[in-house]
Amino acid sequence: MSANHGGTLFIVAAPSGAGKSTLVNALLEREPGISLSISHTTRPPRPGEQYGRHYYFVERAEFEREVAEGIFLEHAEVHGNFYGTSCKTVQELLEQGRDVLLEIDWQGAAQIRKTKPDCVSVFILPPSRTELERRLRGRGSDSEEVIERRLRNSRGEIAHAHEFDYIVVNDRFEDALDGIQAIVRAVRQRSELQCQRHEALIGELLAED
Ligand code: GDP
Ligand code: ADP
Ligand code: 5GP
Repeated sequence: MSANHGGTLFIVAAPSGAGKSTLVNALLEREPGISLSISHTTRPPRPGEQYGRHYYFVERAEFEREVAEGIFLEHAEVHGNFYGTSCKTVQELLEQGRDVLLEIDWQGAAQIRKTKPDCVSVFILPPSRTELERRLRGRGSDSEEVIERRLRNSRGEIAHAHEFDYIVVNDRFEDALDGIQAIVRAVRQRSELQCQRHEALIGELLAED
């Protein structure tokens, strides 16, 4: 098996509170071969969030400078804050053959599909509006004003679910996690990737005795 096959770029999106970050963190424990891209954001950190681990928290002026410098693969305004994925790390990891996962909104996903059409995108749905609201409140990380804004914006995000390659409903957590893991495993065994990885094996199996 030769080394350098480019990795796959996975995108995961969801309305705020659907369980995207919790599912992604659990997926990364099960599948350590995937690297999570850490976004830049102008949103203030929530209690417990760390610079460089959850996000690169930056001031708006710095974010605008970074946009002008062209460092982002995609960027968007979400719930009144700016978020962006830096090109460099994602590109380097993919070139090393690592799979990379982006937790981004539908606008970012649409931008990435244009530049990287072979990305694989997954949309997470909550089982109901009531449960989405319960989870957003239960997380206990946002003010009432922020929660209401995110609930209002959830329809705008969900209206784009059909643009994604896969949709997973996060009702029972373990079932949703199994669903996402099944997508990752199936993608890794797609024939165009497997034919490259196993070129020598296929050649050997085809050789006349
Ligand atoms: P949560 O994911 O709902 O808990 O809240 P966040 O404040 O962490 O993220 C808000 C929104 O921004 C979500 O829809 C994210 O998917 C999106 N987001 C986060 N990082 C990025 C990014 O780098 N680019 C884009 N386009 N969206 C992002
Ligand atoms: P997002 O990243 O989509 O905004 P989070 O991952 O922060 O959402 O999840 C929102 C809240 O819902 C968290 O408190 C999380 O523990 C909880 N949660 C996630 N998935 C489930 C589930 N399947 N059942 C019940 N609670 C869940
Ligand atoms: P939160 O502020 O709750 O962490 O994230 C809110 C939303 O911003 C989430 O739905 C998340 O997917 C989105 N988001 C986070 N990082 C990025 C990013 O780099 N790009 C885009 N487009 N959206 C992002």
